[in-house]
Amino acid sequence: TEGKKSLPFQAEVAQVLKLVIHSLYSHKEIFLRELVSNASDALDKLRFRNLTEPELMGNDPRLEVSIFPDKEKGVLIIRDTGIGMTEAELIENLGTVAHSGSRAFLEQIAKSGKGGKDVNLIGQFGVGFYSAYLVADKVEVITRAAGPGQRALLWSSDAQSTFTIEPTTRAERGTEIVLHLREEHKDFLEDWRIRDLVSRYSDYVAYPIKLEQKEGEAQQINRANALWQRNKSDITDAQYDELYKHLTHDFEPPLARTHFKVEGTQEFAGLLYIPRRPPFDLYDGRRPRGVRLFVKRVFIMDDVEEVLPPWLRFMRGVIDSDDLPLNVSRELLQDSSILHAIKKQVTKKTLDLLEELAKEKPDDYQVAWKNFGQVLKEGLALDSEYKERIAPLLRYSSSHGESLVSLSDYVGRMKEGQEGIYYLFGESAASLQSSPYLESLAARGYEVLLMSDPVDEWAAEGLREFQGKPLLSAMRTDLKLPLDDEQKKTKEEAATRLQPLTLRMLKVLSDRVREVKVSDRLTSSPSCLVLPDGGTPAFMERLLKERGR
Ligand code: ADP
Ligand code: MG
Repeated sequence: TEGKKSLPFQAEVAQVLKLVIHSLYSHKEIFLRELVSNASDALDKLRFRNLTEPELMGNDPRLEVSIFPDKEKGVLIIRDTGIGMTEAELIENLGTVAHSGSRAFLEQIAKSGKGGKDVNLIGQFGVGFYSAYLVADKVEVITRAAGPGQRALLWSSDAQSTFTIEPTTRAERGTEIVLHLREEHKDFLEDWRIRDLVSRYSDYVAYPIKLEQKEGEAQQINRANALWQRNKSDITDAQYDELYKHLTHDFEPPLARTHFKVEGTQEFAGLLYIPRRPPFDLYDGRRPRGVRLFVKRVFIMDDVEEVLPPWLRFMRGVIDSDDLPLNVSRELLQDSSILHAIKKQVTKKTLDLLEELAKEKPDDYQVAWKNFGQVLKEGLALDSEYKERIAPLLRYSSSHGESLVSLSDYVGRMKEGQEGIYYLFGESAASLQSSPYLESLAARGYEVLLMSDPVDEWAAEGLREFQGKPLLSAMRTDLKLPLDDEQKKTKEEAATRLQPLTLRMLKVLSDRVREVKVSDRLTSSPSCLVLPDGGTPAFMERLLKERGR
């Protein structure tokens, strides 16, 4: 571009802006966290790309954020020496192409009902930049992409449906966000206010954040060292929670965390969290999930899936390795033996954490189970190596009562002579409670696990047994229940007496059933369908039919 151009905001972005300006009124101070977080991301990107493109950093190695409250002009400026933006990136990132999150954000706000108040969720949806308009009526972004030959640009908007872009001058790479504060928000120009917000929200940021009092005079106001490298005893819960929010953009604190350092053949630090709620796009299969990978404190990449097995993909956090090469690529990660060793340790630490949570805080564990149990169960079928560690973490509905039970609860209640752990699989626990398949088991006082999650049957087959007790489907024909002599005699007599009937039934239903038998499994229902050996469970059949197979 030579001159100045004016472009409209994409419709959803315009809506987000309107909402930010007119309806969100609490926690306005979070704008600073969002902008500092963007600055930190921009520095991460530069540092990473510079590993292979050293011309990006050139002879200016500074990686920092600075905040300059210009009281005379009434503007607050947040600068970084990061990757910067080209014109195309400016247009795409700050205005026209809505992040997929914009719509989700709008929906969430509408749904929460308290629309007006809660602004905390803004960062989660990839619309954090717009939080600048919580406190400013006009925002300017001056940016120059890193690398030789890039030109400086000025983006500007008062959020009235359009923004402008024009060439400008800026000697250094990076980005500068200029907030023209509204009169009632001029308090964000006070030093103490900025210091307080930075230490509260951004202390974990790995780069120095400097407060410029006068032009040229600056003081670092954060600690700028990686939280996970500090000693546990020096870290407060609030600091752990803030780092979690920074990593995930979740607005709620996590359910639990584990912070560890591993020494020996592989040296690395890890800080992992169990979220309290699943992210809004948990079931978006395209969305990669994983943890953030650092090598010797240098950010390498987001969403690294290789450090955790897929059935722990709900975990969030950071792994910082001392042994991986700095220039490690995604491809390299896939068959790195170092990463393999890390993955093993991380899996173990995560299982330890879940186990501890189940033991120490069963209520919190219930929440985790409700949100992520479905994912965890996949491990039974996928990873026989960890079956024994996962099994005690399982929770199921049961014929025993309302609450979820563990397998060891079940085993503790097993009756004399009971062959194994019975389970029944169907659409919902409630509908299973009245299933005819339960009758004969219930008559003997046997408990039955009621499974209704589509992965359950697959998972149960993967598990096979628990504490030496086999898992047995209550739907199979080979349900061998112990009978005393009296019962055996009654059954044989009935079979002979009813033979004409069963033969007749088989004839009528010949294209639908394989066999009609007199059974001892029912007490009040006249009949039920059971699966022959190797047959597809009815529920699965229905599922497959629904999917058109
Ligand atoms: P998110 O950070 O979740 O992607 P934001 O609304 O905060 O969403 O920012 C949108 C995008 O704008 C970022 O992804 C980034 O590409 C770009 N951006 C914002 N601030 C900066 C900055 N200081 N330097 C470089 N790019 C930036
Ligand atoms: Mg952001």
